[in-house]
Amino acid sequence: DPAPASRSSKVPTTLSIRPTGPIAPSQDLNNRVSLVRNDITKLAVEAICNAANRRLLGGGGVDGAIHRAAGPGLLAECRKLGGCATGDAKITDAYNLPCSKVIHAVGPVYDMQTPQESERLLTSAYNRVLNLAVDNDCSTLALCGISTGVYGYPHRKAAPVAISTVKKFLESEKGQKLKKVVFVVFVEADVEAHEEFLPVYFPPL
Ligand code: ADP
Repeated sequence: DPAPASRSSKVPTTLSIRPTGPIAPSQDLNNRVSLVRNDITKLAVEAICNAANRRLLGGGGVDGAIHRAAGPGLLAECRKLGGCATGDAKITDAYNLPCSKVIHAVGPVYDMQTPQESERLLTSAYNRVLNLAVDNDCSTLALCGISTGVYGYPHRKAAPVAISTVKKFLESEKGQKLKKVVFVVFVEADVEAHEEFLPVYFPPL
């Protein structure tokens, strides 16, 4: 017998409780990220991320450290790339660095007037880095804090953007090829921001 209309309208016909994304085993997910405080040029992972500028011809901060450690071959290759748009990234060889590839990302100069636009561009930069790593068969990747130096993106705002973007990618089908993502922090404010937000997105079991 059909239920009275007043009751049946409250009974859902389909189950409304569904997972909102792919169900990834959390321990596996947690094992695929780590946090280290180090100079990114020392890491022997397959790919490291550079926080470059649009010209891709070297600069200060991590960019300068990467170019110094890689040697002049890196600048010669970068000259051929014709720059890079904000929110995008380009990949090169690593020359004298212990890694195999360098992924040069251009993050936004943080703009307090348009924080959502800054966040969109930072997310885009990280997504490009993650995609380029997989496209070039790099299964271990070290990330630096794009935009968090002279580009002025506050560490405490940048960390959740970086971490949530990585989490989403690791859970995606393409992201399965990435075995390890190392968040490389350098200054104390970045250490604190990652210690605060890593357990939020990758809760310990
Ligand atoms: P941006 O111009 O994108 O802000 P910076 O190089 O000024 O780039 O800073 C980006 C981040 O890289 C900052 O958090 C800074 O502390 C960090 N950093 C600087 N040198 C190194 C290094 N050798 N290894 C890893 N991280 C570094």
